[in-house]
Amino acid sequence: MVVKIDVSYIPNNIRCIILDVVDRVVPSRKESSDKMITLYNEKNAEEIKHILEEELRLKNLSDYVISENTHDESEIAVLKKGDIEQLGLYVCMHCGMPFESEVQRTVHERMHYF
Ligand SMILES: [Zn+2]
Repeated sequence: MVVKIDVSYIPNNIRCIILDVVDRVVPSRKESSDKMITLYNEKNAEEIKHILEEELRLKNLSDYVISENTHDESEIAVLKKGDIEQLGLYVCMHCGMPFESEVQRTVHERMHYF
């Protein structure tokens, strides 16, 4: 399958870091633009998400999260935490999972307390 990484919401320096790790770690044929990195012949978006999350953790970029597109499972996006609610997404502060409403997120977040 094709996996797309939306990099249109992040500044240039973060985009470079993402491109760099993708170049190093992901062997599939790829195309990239200012807005999108497209990876061909990937098994799933989940694996790419984990690679990018690990890189953000290593680089201490905890302001950024990898979000799944709730409408398209082949697409993930790199987002800055503060920008997410403006985009209409609500992200769990514990695990980074995105939700389309604050109610859904609140219900999910309770799970972390038990
Ligand atoms: Zn969570």
